[in-house]
Amino acid sequence: MSTNRQVEDTRIKDLHAAIRRASDLALDWTAKLPDRPITAGATPEQMAAALDEPLPAAGIPPDEAIAEWLNRAEPGIVTSNGPRYFGFVTGGTLPAALGGDWLASTIDQNGGIWSMSPAGSQTELTVIRWLKELFLLPSEWHGVMTSGATMSNLVGLAAARQWAGERLGFNPAEDGLGGRPVIPVVSSAAIHASARKALGNLGFGRQAVRTVPAPGGVVDVADLRDALDMTEGPAIVIANAGEVNTGQFDDLNAVADVCSEHEGGAWLHVDGAFGLFAAASSDYRDRVKGVERADSVAADAHKWLNVPYDSGFAFVRDEVAVRRAFATSGAAYLAGSGGWDADDLSAEMSRRVRAISAWCALRSLGRDGYRELIDRCLANAVKLARWVDEQPWLELMNAERMRVTPFMVACVRFTDPAWDDDEHDRRNRELLAALQADGRVYASTTVWEGKAAMRFAFDNWMTTEADVEVIFDVLQDVRSRSS
Ligand SMILES: *Cc1c(COP(=O)(O)O)cnc(C)c1O
Repeated sequence: MSTNRQVEDTRIKDLHAAIRRASDLALDWTAKLPDRPITAGATPEQMAAALDEPLPAAGIPPDEAIAEWLNRAEPGIVTSNGPRYFGFVTGGTLPAALGGDWLASTIDQNGGIWSMSPAGSQTELTVIRWLKELFLLPSEWHGVMTSGATMSNLVGLAAARQWAGERLGFNPAEDGLGGRPVIPVVSSAAIHASARKALGNLGFGRQAVRTVPAPGGVVDVADLRDALDMTEGPAIVIANAGEVNTGQFDDLNAVADVCSEHEGGAWLHVDGAFGLFAAASSDYRDRVKGVERADSVAADAHKWLNVPYDSGFAFVRDEVAVRRAFATSGAAYLAGSGGWDADDLSAEMSRRVRAISAWCALRSLGRDGYRELIDRCLANAVKLARWVDEQPWLELMNAERMRVTPFMVACVRFTDPAWDDDEHDRRNRELLAALQADGRVYASTTVWEGKAAMRFAFDNWMTTEADVEVIFDVLQDVRSRSS
């Protein structure tokens, strides 16, 4: 019979074998990363063939399970954290962020309440403080880490809902919205789908938003004022700092003015998922001027902070509103932990300590390192935009604004005087599919002002100027192959 000590030794050995195997696989993987084809292109049938099967009755050693998964899943893995993935808005993983994330899982803390991890709670508080300093936001704001900007939008909009409801004499979090006066929500036509999703989750309904025009991706402030004038009582305004197709920003000072002039009061929520990072750049800070006048701000960490999924953060000015929105009332066993409890400020209870990887990333780069990372991404976007603008067979969408104010997204389409509108759309879809299949770079599809186009977004620390030149090559190659 084995002693307890021997059993424990075996368990530690299993843990170590798993850690070593994962580490070896990770070393191989990251060595291949820059040159691995990007598109997975695996069909649902292929992935089901690789992975869909009944639960095995008998187990295998832990390190073998890890290696088996990678081997079987590999064909379906998109190289989205590599240097030439420009689709959607997709960050990479900084070395310190990756190591921190591993450690976070190894230590396996519950970051929901102080008593379960004073280390985790204080780390999150510090990360929130550092992020406010990085983005030049008021130090007295409150903040919390989330799983991404959608949940950050939810945090800000839940606080807004609480503030508006209490002004109208009810408590939305306690009593719901049923039978209560409608709380108007106003935004631009460029509102991100994630803010609508958050509104759906909060019981406003995804269709609750009254939208006003956003020519070129920027809200028309006069129209916004008119729309707000037509509402009564407290309203919620959602502004965009970084529109996904064009990277454009609402004029936050002008929007804040409109909000402060509204008779019933207006809560200004800013979706700054990636745009907030302009505040930490050398040359683009003016884009977010006025953000410090917002009531809440949502942003992503798994995009431009370059930490692994899933990670985001939200700031709220009014602590009472956000706490009332998320109070975990009535659970005596949760009470009295003594320190800061993240679960009082967000939709989650138990959660991983996302702040560990963010702390390691921020500590490793510092303010200067992040400025340099952001500046480099912006310079790469400008390099692409300038080059596109010089090619007669390419069109830089939103060119008028882009030329004056390129940000981190370039929205592009192939063009030919011989093509009519439909032909333009058809050809662009075909050519983008060819570009994606090529595998050297990745751009994602969009429709901008009714025209099919592709988007290249720059927010990965690994991307170099040479990678931007690969985009030039691929665009030329897919064009010449098609003609
Ligand atoms: C990515 C993005 C979101 C949603 O973020 P998730 O991390 O996917 O939840 C919201 N708003 C904007 C502007 C975005 O770019």
